[in-house]
Amino acid sequence: MTDVAASPADLASSSFFDAALAQLGPRGVTRDADLIDPWLTDWRGRFHGKAQAMASPATTAELSALVRLCAEHGVAIVPQGGNSGMVGGATPDESGEAVLLSLRRMNAIRELDVSGRKVTCEAGVILQTLHEAAEAQGLRFPLTLGGKGSATVGGLVSTNAGGTQVLRHGSMRALVLGLEAVLPDGQVLSMLTPLKKDNRGFDLKQLLIGSEGTLGIVTAATLRLVPAVAERLVIWAGVPTLHAARKLLLHCEDAVGEALEGFEVLPQASLEAVIDLQPATRAPLTEPHPWHVLIEVVADTAGAAGLAGRCEAMLASAFEAQLLDDAVVAMNESQAEAFWLIRESISAAERARGPAVQHDISVPVEAMPAFIEAAVPRLEADWPGTEAIAFGHLGDGNVHFHVIAPPGTDAAAWHRGDGKAISRQVHDLVTQWHGSISAEHGIGQLKRDELARLGDPVALDTMRRIKAALDPKGLLNPGKLI
Ligand SMILES: Cc1cc2nc3c(=O)[nH]c(=O)nc-3n(C[C@H](O)[C@H](O)[C@H](O)COP(=O)(O)OP(=O)(O)OC[C@H]3O[C@@H](n4cnc5c(N)ncnc54)[C@H](O)[C@@H]3O)c2cc1C
Repeated sequence: MTDVAASPADLASSSFFDAALAQLGPRGVTRDADLIDPWLTDWRGRFHGKAQAMASPATTAELSALVRLCAEHGVAIVPQGGNSGMVGGATPDESGEAVLLSLRRMNAIRELDVSGRKVTCEAGVILQTLHEAAEAQGLRFPLTLGGKGSATVGGLVSTNAGGTQVLRHGSMRALVLGLEAVLPDGQVLSMLTPLKKDNRGFDLKQLLIGSEGTLGIVTAATLRLVPAVAERLVIWAGVPTLHAARKLLLHCEDAVGEALEGFEVLPQASLEAVIDLQPATRAPLTEPHPWHVLIEVVADTAGAAGLAGRCEAMLASAFEAQLLDDAVVAMNESQAEAFWLIRESISAAERARGPAVQHDISVPVEAMPAFIEAAVPRLEADWPGTEAIAFGHLGDGNVHFHVIAPPGTDAAAWHRGDGKAISRQVHDLVTQWHGSISAEHGIGQLKRDELARLGDPVALDTMRRIKAALDPKGLLNPGKLI
């Protein structure tokens, strides 16, 4: 074990550590650098921090006691789940004064209520584990994302995560029925029991959802489950323009309604990047197309009958209306998975092409095609040699907008200079189009200054006043979000 408590600052904090050790025991708190260090860098490797200790409470009561102790000693807390966040929200600053609070030991599924179609999970339950538990009961939790093997319920709630099923089921805000959280003074806010109708004032759970660990620490959540998928059809279509893709989306919504679960777009360049990275990948269509659309239509047992026929009719009428140039329906599950794998590999494929700045943006759904058609050539013209690529959740008005550096660029220098200026320009454009600089990843430390620069002043002031009221000492996740 390497004890990191050697400097005067560490010695000053040792009375806090001794008290925490007495409360939580040796499994609940450590200063062993070998155990802490792997958690001090964010998933993208852009932020590195330090922590005086890592606390891993096993229960809400232990966590509440720890938070009270932190409040007494003025110790900052940085909550962390699976550390799969994209904006550095779970990485402490470099002062080494904060405690890194891992929720990973609080990983019990407290209750899975099959007839009530709901599940109560502790914050540290990993998304993949939740999927498997629901599936074992003939149900499913209808939110998935690429980081599902690491992302935890607490992190998903705290970032209001999205993913590829938001079109039908909404983001976490729509799936959280109840919440339990520890407030900055250590009190436990217990609102786990879901009520369909409840008008007793503010909806405090919605205040905590998406607050990125700055207002409270989520310890458990009651989540909505839906029936398991009985049948799904995964369709790959080639379309001439994004406007055609948008019309195709409306056409699919009209044709299959609620059964439409996913509608993702990607340009030909992204498909080629995936094939370059993984040469075994087969392009779903024989010819190249300017844009590709991945469509998923699902049905539970009640709606499964006739799904294939309805999709066939939907595609035939789309061809007739010239909304698509070509389309193929996955013949089996492994082909369906192969289609989705292409979509999920885009980020890695883009990364392999060199340094890039990534933006997770939204504009009103109907404006997205025009936005991309305006923003892509504008960025490429203003920054010669760059390539701008937009792909993702067209159905939600949310795309990942990446700008790849000119070939041969030094990554660090580019990120500090042109990369930063490009991001500002993208965010300025999004703001002009009445959009959001963070559609689903949150603000964290990556976008904190941009939010301060571009956010509505009244909204920012309201957020700061709420923060000051709940956390007057500013100890919960300092330096993040606001
Ligand atoms: C390959 C990949 C694909 C992804 N795709 C998507 C996607 O499609 N859509 C999407 O929305 N996200 C996506 N993400 C991002 C990420 O998975 C989500 O942001 C997820 O919600 C983070 O969960 P986590 O447990 O890893 O949280 P962490 O990264 O540990 O923390 C995220 C934030 O939440 C806070 N936090 C964590 N736990 C708690 C808690 N219990 N109480 C209070 N605050 C807490 C942290 O302080 C931090 O601010 C992806 C990530 C990866 C790696």
